[in-house]
Amino acid sequence: MCFLVDSHCHLASLTFEGKGPKSVGEVIARARACGVTHMLSVACTIEDYGTMMNLIKPFDGIYNACGIHPLNLEEAGAWTEEQLAACLTDEKCLALGETGLDYFYAAESREAQLDSFARQIDLACQVKKPLIIHARAAHHDTVELMRSHNARDCGGVMHCFCDEIEMARECLDLGFFISFSGIATFKAADNVREVLKYAPLDRIMVETDCPYLAPVPVRGVDNEPAFVRYTLEFIADFKGVSPKALAQQTSANFEQCFKVKLETPANTNVPEKDISIYKLEKIYNKGWPY
Ligand SMILES: [Zn+2]
Ligand SMILES: [Zn+2]
Repeated sequence: MCFLVDSHCHLASLTFEGKGPKSVGEVIARARACGVTHMLSVACTIEDYGTMMNLIKPFDGIYNACGIHPLNLEEAGAWTEEQLAACLTDEKCLALGETGLDYFYAAESREAQLDSFARQIDLACQVKKPLIIHARAAHHDTVELMRSHNARDCGGVMHCFCDEIEMARECLDLGFFISFSGIATFKAADNVREVLKYAPLDRIMVETDCPYLAPVPVRGVDNEPAFVRYTLEFIADFKGVSPKALAQQTSANFEQCFKVKLETPANTNVPEKDISIYKLEKIYNKGWPY
């Protein structure tokens, strides 16, 4: 069986409104129908983690991660290392994150972000979990903190990468993987495709970051894990490899980054019928399984 992983999604942030799927079970069923066998669902505060776990616990093949997002510092409040470490003990918890720095949306909270990010790198090294790093308009500080707090020791992934080649090179040198979202398919994202050209196949992953950033040709609708197929197929074409080869390679990279062995998920609790096919026709027509 060829696995395909959505390496970063926010299953608890989907709204289940409109024409799209009505439940997490349906989201997972639609993903599986498109060949997306596994997902890593990410929480951005400790409270979100509890909510998310209640939603995803029944389903096999769905991994989780918890961190304090740089844009959620205020609502996260005064979290402690003990509280966050407790979340990371779940058997399907693969990483600490997302954490990082975002000066694009919140330059004013730079000091608090630096403090929170540094504490989380230290904790990840301590509990030996890889990091999921969110970095936006914060190249220098991000790499500086990764270096000074020895992020190399725990490793991890730069998720939804949209910075320049220089930063990609520095992160790859620190042993990190680079994950690409639907942004890679956007017409104006030549800078991301420059990085895509540069990044070696054995160091990249694909993600949706849903419910945000739906890829072309479904840009503008609510994103969901099934749509990582579009990003995968775009990148495969761009890199001159088959979608199947890229699915296999990015799955192997996921296993290496998160120190996990992917297994065929049991269908427990995933509805097999009544999957609405809104916007999925093009994916189905492209012939799954590979
Ligand atoms: Zn992010
Ligand atoms: Zn995210």
